[in-house]
Amino acid sequence: MKKFILFIFLTGLVSQCYCWGFYAHKTINYHSVFLLPPQMLLFYKENIALVAEHATDADKRRYAVADEAPRHFIDIDHYGHYPFNELPHKWNDAVEKFSEDSLLSYGIVPWHVQIVYKRLIKAFQEKNFSSIIKNSADLGHYIADAHVPLHTSQNHDGQLTNQKGIHAFWESRIPELLADKKFDFFIGKAEYIQDPGAFIWERVLESAKAADSVLSFEKKLSLQFPGDKKYSFEKRNNSLIRQYSSGYTIAYDKMLNGMVERRMRQSIFAVASFWYTAWVNAGQPDLSAIVNKSFSANDLNEFEKLNNDWKNVEGKKESDHE
Ligand SMILES: [Zn+2]
Repeated sequence: MKKFILFIFLTGLVSQCYCWGFYAHKTINYHSVFLLPPQMLLFYKENIALVAEHATDADKRRYAVADEAPRHFIDIDHYGHYPFNELPHKWNDAVEKFSEDSLLSYGIVPWHVQIVYKRLIKAFQEKNFSSIIKNSADLGHYIADAHVPLHTSQNHDGQLTNQKGIHAFWESRIPELLADKKFDFFIGKAEYIQDPGAFIWERVLESAKAADSVLSFEKKLSLQFPGDKKYSFEKRNNSLIRQYSSGYTIAYDKMLNGMVERRMRQSIFAVASFWYTAWVNAGQPDLSAIVNKSFSANDLNEFEKLNNDWKNVEGKKESDHE
């Protein structure tokens, strides 16, 4: 019996990932397409499945690329207290003050968003189908990550406050349970962003401001909620997965007063607006000639390798746990 419980506990950890879950990332990229102006909409609608599918490539790369991990978060509370005036927003100033190594170890998401944004401008200028899809998908991923409160906190999985698992609870369990049924993703139009750097820093600071509620509300709920109703068990891929129960998830979402839906909506608006701004700043290229292009054989090989490497690591993690 003891062994069985340990097995459940360990397999429960397997699905944890420190990013919006795959479902949420794909949903955000997918819905962002519908905010675009007609000149872009034709291209993105035709390729919406690719933009959504590749929304998760950045997470898969974490296993293969050593530099990947810090691009998804910034532990901004390392630098003091809100609004963290000690941390310069310009990369060179921040490097001068804290050193590149230190910045990398506490995460660089707001800076990396700006790098991928520039790559997307270049892709539009070159009218390079593959590069437009890949960089649109990646940009969507990093922007969405910047909207997650726990991506801005050193206590990113509640490990410092005995709340381990809260990361995936907020960003995977809630959207997976509620987004399709309850969340509204009808959001007006993309807008031109005058200052992309300032824009993404504002989103990061909003996330940092919300991190405390994300943690303290769950703590409060866990003390009120009957202990035996907090988790439920579900069979997935022949493993028994322990997860937060529907009742507990719904109660937490209610306490957060729609925060997860709000952050998903804001992510969608931000992603579409960044894509649009990149296209405008690339000179509004006519995309009609490349609408029906497809990935090259090289691209497809690269995706296959990425998927295989990722599946191997995931599979190994599962067998390690068993
Ligand atoms: Zn991520």
